Amino acid sequence: GVPAGDGIADKGGRNELYVIMIEDVSDRRHFESMRRDFVTNVSHELKTPAGAISLLAETISDAAGDPDAVKYFSGRISKESARLTELVQKLIELQKVQDDDVAAAQSNEPVCVPQIVREAVSENEVQASAKHIEIRMFFGDDTVGVVAGAEGADDDGHDHSGATPGRQVDVNDEDAIVVRADAENLKTAVKNLVENAIHYSPEGTHVGVSVKRTNGSVQIRVVDQGIGIPAEAQSRIFERFYRVDPARSRATGGTGLGLSITKHIVQEAGGTISVWSRPNEGSTFTIELPRA
Ligand code: ADP
Repeated sequence: GVPAGDGIADKGGRNELYVIMIEDVSDRRHFESMRRDFVTNVSHELKTPAGAISLLAETISDAAGDPDAVKYFSGRISKESARLTELVQKLIELQKVQDDDVAAAQSNEPVCVPQIVREAVSENEVQASAKHIEIRMFFGDDTVGVVAGAEGADDDGHDHSGATPGRQVDVNDEDAIVVRADAENLKTAVKNLVENAIHYSPEGTHVGVSVKRTNGSVQIRVVDQGIGIPAEAQSRIFERFYRVDPARSRATGGTGLGLSITKHIVQEAGGTISVWSRPNEGSTFTIELPRA
């Protein structure tokens, strides 16, 4: 309230104060409905494996005399619990990147991108070698204006080979490829992309992970030769819980949260993320961050 006698007086000496409150409730309603959807989605995602586990446990106790059946059903129980664990872990990750207080406390330190990318790749090595997928890394420099080796780029100007045009930097120059970000989060962002590239690719294919320094930015690109993403789905894959093929995603341990977490992290660091993809040819995800 405004105290009396602060000059808002009419001729009669009465204080008259008009408070006009215009509040945009549509934003709040939108947020509320998003929150409700989120809780519904989480509940559903948790209920499915939890339900399966209790059903499988019952079946096991009925089949106690049959060692093969016990082995089979306990294997399925482990798989479903792994799914639960993965989901909870991703939810914690999402909560962490979305919490403003946590975000404010996070460091925005200079981060050496090639080092982060190497770590993200090495944390996916087991999954990659299980599918005989070779991950190729390339660290390049475009600041000198040389754009060589553009072969591999198709008519959209997209490059599926995993190689990025430009001069390859030697190991000593890698330290100069730096952005401002939270190192741990940036690693999560890249790790999610590499994880997907492996998940959605057939055995024996290649995944390319490249880092390119340009004058103003650093580009991190993850290229696969996998199943691709239909054009109409490409704008939706960054939404929480959206999956092109929910059954396939679940079968490969997906949660539908990875890309939404990655996008959040990239935006937090002042960058952008984009996708190019063609079904049955592969996908290319590009993170672009301002150079430190
Ligand atoms: P998920 O845990 O299901 O992989 P994400 O949020 O990481 O969740 O990805 C959302 C959806 O986008 C996936 O379910 C999948 O349909 C699609 N997708 C993501 N990355 C790729 C890729 N490299 N190739 C094909 N499809 C992909």
